[in-house]
Amino acid sequence: MIPYGKQEIDQSDIDAVIQTLKGDWITSGPKIDEFEKAIAEYVGAKHAVAVNSGTSALDIAVGALELPEGSEIITTPFTFVATSNCILYNGCKPIFADIDLKTYNIDPDEIRKKITKKTKAIIYVDYAGQPCDIDEIREIAQEHDLKLIEDAAHAIGAEYKGKKVGSLADMTEFSFHPVKHITTGEGGIVTSNNEELVKKMRMLRNHGMDRSLRERLGPNASYAYDIKTLGRNYRITDIQCALGYSQLKKLDGIIEKRTRIAAAYAKAFDEMDGITTPFVKNDVKHAWHLYTILLDKGMDRDKFFNEMRTREIGVNVHYIPIYMFSYYKKLEGAAMDKNNFPNTNDVFSRIITLPLYPGLETIEIEKVVNAVRECTNSDKG
Ligand SMILES: *Cc1c(COP(=O)(O)O)cnc(C)c1O
Repeated sequence: MIPYGKQEIDQSDIDAVIQTLKGDWITSGPKIDEFEKAIAEYVGAKHAVAVNSGTSALDIAVGALELPEGSEIITTPFTFVATSNCILYNGCKPIFADIDLKTYNIDPDEIRKKITKKTKAIIYVDYAGQPCDIDEIREIAQEHDLKLIEDAAHAIGAEYKGKKVGSLADMTEFSFHPVKHITTGEGGIVTSNNEELVKKMRMLRNHGMDRSLRERLGPNASYAYDIKTLGRNYRITDIQCALGYSQLKKLDGIIEKRTRIAAAYAKAFDEMDGITTPFVKNDVKHAWHLYTILLDKGMDRDKFFNEMRTREIGVNVHYIPIYMFSYYKKLEGAAMDKNNFPNTNDVFSRIITLPLYPGLETIEIEKVVNAVRECTNSDKG
């Protein structure tokens, strides 16, 4: 089976991890600072706070806003469930806004329709690695005094109007899960230019403590610390950060390879009936976390999916809309009626994710393309 995504670990990554294992610090040590600084510099942000998952990163980002219970946060339903779970963890209410039919990103006009007196923030997701209409979203945020969190789990290295994502929102989250561009096994990070928010996030990842372990060591340091807020243990290890730091050096090459594979797919599918390839806006640099195709209306996506899997192509579906999950449907006062999201329903019913990762060989790309050709034809027949 050709998987839809896969990490790329080489000897230099392995060496970096082993070197860290032999050192004094395997957690809460200097590799974390080094990784945070390198990521902040790469994306053009002042600060970065690394944690043990992208989900934890989203959680501390929402937590740092210290919003009153019951505040509303507008987000897309066409995302991984972590994007909205982090809203619930913090006692707030996720309000979904429908997506744009071309980019599958949240539609700014739909955001406007969902704003109430309780709206405090927007979490937008750069679906598949294509940045949202960020200027428009920022305009809405300024008009209504809302905070912005960018879920850029798909979009490290992506650019919007010539600027890397990472400092365009108040806080930006990246994930280092193995299917993402670079990995730490599990891991995530928040980048931000706002020092106050960064200070709060550092406390939230470490039990709410106002001083880190290293600040409490050394000849003249006191043992004392205070608990300022209710935090968690979301710490990432030095072992993971050593891997992440080593991986980051290869990120530009990884994006280049992903972009080349996406272009090869686009070229192969250009003349093929029955499918639509991804639309790319001209003011962005796409990071290509996912390569999706949209089947024509009337075709049976689930049948297509099964036939591709039979041919050992590890296709996937990104994403099942969050309002379809039973836990979300049960939420009190939830506006989870699927009739509110015609575009998301339409895209969900027809979308398929194809394999895309740096190590995907030309011969495998051909195998995927041939399988798509066969399965679209068999679907018509
Ligand atoms: C991967 C991902 C996350 C974070 O996931 P983790 O597995 O916790 O790192 C968040 N949002 C989206 C859209 C993602 O794809």
